[in-house]
Amino acid sequence: MAFEELLEDPVVQKYLNELVGPKGMPVAAAPPDGEVTDEELAERLGLELNDVRRALFILYENDLASYRRVRDEDSGWLTYLWTFEYDNIPGNMMDEMERLLEALDERREYELDNEFYLCEVCSIRFEFDEAMDLGFECPECGSQVESMENEHLIEAMDERIEDLEHELGVA
Ligand SMILES: [Zn+2]
Repeated sequence: MAFEELLEDPVVQKYLNELVGPKGMPVAAAPPDGEVTDEELAERLGLELNDVRRALFILYENDLASYRRVRDEDSGWLTYLWTFEYDNIPGNMMDEMERLLEALDERREYELDNEFYLCEVCSIRFEFDEAMDLGFECPECGSQVESMENEHLIEAMDERIEDLEHELGVA
């Protein structure tokens, strides 16, 4: 099978698992060669037809499966013949990492641009303006809120950003 190697990659497995969930994973993890119907897949994998259909639809929404409809000449029923499009997995994963990287960059900016205050009793964090409006008193418990360092958080983000940039080949 052409996709065997790809599917052995734990990162790919995690990606698929997050898409289709544990119930859909048997479908996502065993792409057939060529076309297949949902009934065939359900039978082959010993799954509920609804779970198979749900997984196929999620794959379809993510450009990882396509179908064509064929009408049975005798019964007039429509059959859906599914093809797995796993060539798109690497591109999809890159797109997802790019979105994550963008969100992290934005979040990092926010952390850098703001001063934060913490109620150590309630573990609630306030922005400077908010804390000032509250007279530096926690609205939940009345304790004094304390200035809070977020350097560690930013450092952790920097590391994650660096990892992502490395994986994306932009650093
Ligand atoms: Zn509090």
